[in-house]
Amino acid sequence: MTTAAQALVVGVRTLRAAGIEDAPRDARILLAHAIGIKTSRLTLVMPDPLTAEAATRFSALIERRAARQPVSHLIGGREFYGRWFKVTPQVLDPRPETEELVALALQQDFQSVLDLGVGSGCILLSLLAERPAAQGVGVDMSEGALQVAAENGKSIGVSPRLSLSKSDWFSAVTGRFDLIVSNPPYITETEMAQLSPEVANWEPDLALTPGGDGLSPYREITKTAPNYLHAGGRLIVEIGYRQGADVAAMFTAGGFEQVAISQDMSGKDRVVRGVLPS
Ligand code: GLN
Repeated sequence: MTTAAQALVVGVRTLRAAGIEDAPRDARILLAHAIGIKTSRLTLVMPDPLTAEAATRFSALIERRAARQPVSHLIGGREFYGRWFKVTPQVLDPRPETEELVALALQQDFQSVLDLGVGSGCILLSLLAERPAAQGVGVDMSEGALQVAAENGKSIGVSPRLSLSKSDWFSAVTGRFDLIVSNPPYITETEMAQLSPEVANWEPDLALTPGGDGLSPYREITKTAPNYLHAGGRLIVEIGYRQGADVAAMFTAGGFEQVAISQDMSGKDRVVRGVLPS
């Protein structure tokens, strides 16, 4: 009989050998998932024998993690802004930095919000869940992403206030909004070559990079957003940490005021925002 503790030791060793950065953390999450309990309860079952099924599930998960598959894909999702989101290889894996954009968007009221490149829906659905009177529109080029966003909308309970459609940025969008948000693909062509295997092999290129200098989505969004915002409406976008000055200049050129760059929890430029004059 193998105990949970013994299985964990083997799991951690395998992940370490595969070069996984935080092997103990990942192995604990995967073991809890294999047993079917919350990670916070794992310590309590450490001395207990693992069932044969749990042991088999755990070694399969460890093998996939050692092949650098992201933890969110292995356990089916991740928590973002306090809610559970389904995550598949069709969408960008929500990053904790993106919660900063959500927090900034919530600093002021809005009745309507548009998310360009909605992906898993982590930004838009968090905003709708936090503002129960607001209506949201999410667009994406990827049908697979739109399906994931729709499922997340259902499980989070905001579907009646959510409309999702396929669109190349604004091409299929109609109407005006109080708030436009986006975490567009922004990784440069050069940076793409240096990504970790988790990101490069398992996340969709479409969500990661527009090619070239990584700035083309911001050119399009800052130029066109004023036609889709009410007077006094806000535009808030996530950026790569070296893109702050360029993107802020595009906001200003697009007619936005109160343009501001904010930092993520590591102190890196991460979000640019501006207000359309009223
Ligand atoms: N923040 C992601 C990364 O650096 C990129 C996401 C994006 O391009 N929007 O891995």
